[in-house]
Amino acid sequence: MMNELDLVIHGGLLVSDSGSQKADLGIQDGKIAAVGLNLTGKEMLDASGLMVIPGGVDPHVHLNMPTATTVTSEDWFSGTLAAAHGGTTTVLDFVEPLPGQSLHEGLQARQSEAEGQAWLDYGLHMTIADVKLIPQIKSLVEEGVSSFKIYTTYGDMQLNDYEIVAVLDAVKENHGIVMVHAENDAVVRHATQTLVNEGKLEPRWHPHSRPALAEVEAVQRMIYLARVSGTNLYLVHLSTGGAVKAAGKALRDGQNLVAETCPQYLLLNRERYQDENPEMAAGFVCSPPLRNPNDQQAIWHALRQKTVLSIGSDHCAFTIHPQKQVALGDFRTIPGGIPGIELRYPMMYHFGVRSGMLSPEQWVALCSTNPAKSFGIWPQKGSLMVEADADLVLFDPNKEFSVTADHLHEKVDYTPYEGFALKGFPVMTIIKGRKLIENGEVLMDKPTGNYLKCGTPVIPA
Ligand SMILES: [Zn+2]
Repeated sequence: MMNELDLVIHGGLLVSDSGSQKADLGIQDGKIAAVGLNLTGKEMLDASGLMVIPGGVDPHVHLNMPTATTVTSEDWFSGTLAAAHGGTTTVLDFVEPLPGQSLHEGLQARQSEAEGQAWLDYGLHMTIADVKLIPQIKSLVEEGVSSFKIYTTYGDMQLNDYEIVAVLDAVKENHGIVMVHAENDAVVRHATQTLVNEGKLEPRWHPHSRPALAEVEAVQRMIYLARVSGTNLYLVHLSTGGAVKAAGKALRDGQNLVAETCPQYLLLNRERYQDENPEMAAGFVCSPPLRNPNDQQAIWHALRQKTVLSIGSDHCAFTIHPQKQVALGDFRTIPGGIPGIELRYPMMYHFGVRSGMLSPEQWVALCSTNPAKSFGIWPQKGSLMVEADADLVLFDPNKEFSVTADHLHEKVDYTPYEGFALKGFPVMTIIKGRKLIENGEVLMDKPTGNYLKCGTPVIPA
């Protein structure tokens, strides 16, 4: 006879990436211990009328990230709590080792920042901006870092093709995955210089500095380079129709890759840069920039076709006052990035599932299961299977939420989604069997998130 369950969630509709069923879910010692009918436990939680879904896994966030001139307004404490309010229970952030730092030292520095501050379990991707660090990749994999991020642009971060191939080879040898920010650096530099020569420096010129074809070219090149070496590839924040088309072709050719997009590329377009108030326009400065409505449509289509299999927020928050505002005179100096850690899961429900674009199972796959698989933390995270961590969300498909910066918990003075009206919102967020948030109220008194070791990536299909 099994020990009595600690908590039973009964009467809800369990929705996972693979199907939906009316069943009870039993939790013991922080893990899912039983799924079935008529379960009983010490505590019974009524989920009638609600969906019970795996907590969101946000594969792409930037908390407490320094830039050349400032640091993101969002830190580990505020960012992970905001995420939890929106139903995300795991975040994956980045390590960017400082010059002279080893990968191990960079990892340790990020872990000690997050220690005691993170409300959620968190994993870390490692940025490789210097090929001299390649020999250290093997030991990082042993420390629970299986994803290595490279840039094809961005000054100091940029690697050339020869260096990229070397990273791809080393990561393949260690059974990891390479993430890439892909934009053609020469095109970006040339377009930017042209604008500078013409004195076009206001925020509204930012999208012209990073043309769509810069992304398409670099994404296609990365696909080919990864194919040459046979390495798993994760394409971050795809924003263009051309890029998702290239990813679709590669998938049909049998390549191991995961294409990610972000809510901002689905829900916002470049008209935002034309705002008469340049401060508002600056609030939308991010790279790659917001694109055209036809790109938005192409990415929605790619989600339906299961070409794009992962949704990250790319949450990178800078305040309008003063962080973006002080740089209004020159778009090149505006700290790039937009916030979105809190609303990723519910916005994808409203605009994806409620609109009929996506099934509920696809929604869970995109926002939870597939990111967990891609970075080797599934089925511990992103699943409703027995033995998975009991990171769960009770989601009310009828709860209305009107978006305004004051209603959010992100530590930033605006939201790009101001005025959106959502239907469908979490009413409870549970982490490892304990209630963290109920109806917007924080029930735990301090953060309990831990560093999460990422293992071998599983390419979702
Ligand atoms: Zn990013």
